[in-house]
Amino acid sequence: MTLVVPSKTPAPITPGRQALDSALHQLGQAGDHLGLDDGLRLMLATPRRSLTVSVPVRRENGRLDVVQGFRVQHNVSRGPAKGGIRFHPSADLDEVTALAMWMTWKCALVGIPYGGAKGGVAVAPETLTTRELERLTRRYVNEILPLIGPEKDIPAPDVGTDEQTMAWIMDTFSVNAGYSVPGVVTGKPTALGGSLGRAGATSRGVQIVALAALGRSPEGVTVAVQGFGKVGALAAQYLSDAGCTVVAVSDVSGAVHASSGLDIADLRAWVAETGGVRGYRHADALDRDELFELDVDLLVPAALEGVITAANAPRIRARLIVEGANGPTTPEADEILAEHGTTVVPDILANAGGVIVSYLEWVQNMQAYSWSAAEVEMRLRDLMESAYGEVKSLSADRGLTLRQAAHVIGVGRVAEAHQMRGLYP
Ligand code: GLU
Repeated sequence: MTLVVPSKTPAPITPGRQALDSALHQLGQAGDHLGLDDGLRLMLATPRRSLTVSVPVRRENGRLDVVQGFRVQHNVSRGPAKGGIRFHPSADLDEVTALAMWMTWKCALVGIPYGGAKGGVAVAPETLTTRELERLTRRYVNEILPLIGPEKDIPAPDVGTDEQTMAWIMDTFSVNAGYSVPGVVTGKPTALGGSLGRAGATSRGVQIVALAALGRSPEGVTVAVQGFGKVGALAAQYLSDAGCTVVAVSDVSGAVHASSGLDIADLRAWVAETGGVRGYRHADALDRDELFELDVDLLVPAALEGVITAANAPRIRARLIVEGANGPTTPEADEILAEHGTTVVPDILANAGGVIVSYLEWVQNMQAYSWSAAEVEMRLRDLMESAYGEVKSLSADRGLTLRQAAHVIGVGRVAEAHQMRGLYP
């Protein structure tokens, strides 16, 4: 028998590892600023619980596939764990851990009583039929069942999942419990206790902070949006409704540009029909990477992590970046942007509208009562604007970037909760 000698080659730096390195770097900076001791830093740097599961899926042709799934609860000091579930081929434990950590700071920053979690399944949902997706979702939920619950850990949509996925999660959990448990998941269809305003909440939040950060009338403000999915398409719509001129958008299919502005409603109809922005008649085709370098006022990354890097940051001309995505900017790019005087409204603030309305949905579920769309919108606006105000003033007082200030507030609140509770035993 031949002995297999383990290779000395270091493991490649995966996108997930990069995301986790970024999250740890941001935590380290906030820890320095707050003067946190080493023990507390270590606690905050490591997730409380991580579960890796194998999810068998029977394909339509009878074949059995097994995919990897994850659920990470990064922190539960301020309340139940909270965070979305992502279906994407690059989902791995490092990525899900980074995303869970960002959820912890995000919930603390906007003052909602949750810890942070994230789930992921390493699968490309567009390659599965609806029935395969349903079987996959239900089996994944069954595997993570001991972790989730309305008082423990509440999933929600993220990249590659939607209202239908949440309905299957709610049903699988409820069938196992023996009664309906709407509060186990947020982002549900309204017919199952979903909140009015949840579907567009992340994008509405992006619009609210973008307009606040612009500090001037949106008329004549030019915008480029990277990602035209659930967050990007509605962010483009809301910014355009507010009077901005959205000149370019991109998605996996390609990018389109029209200097006089895109008709976002028409473009969304085109995407609904064809599956992507590519080939849209009333615009010019653009290279997807060029979108980042356009001479626009506002750039909204609204897809995945690690897209603004040391390689393209020096060529970014937008004066304002509002992060609809989680983790789109690497720490190296952050430094370059700060040197250039580019304002970056960070993910944990800019995209918090989603989890804010998730919280409002959960509160309505726990009370078995529903609020009007206007009530939800008013509370969302209030929480987003106060978080933005706190971040802005801390950044001005202490000479921090908005990202550093947001992390100092978020990490500081979690550290405080942990210290007040003390260590058991
Ligand atoms: N997936 C969204 C986020 O990254 C929403 C999470 C939630 O609503 O729990 O913030």
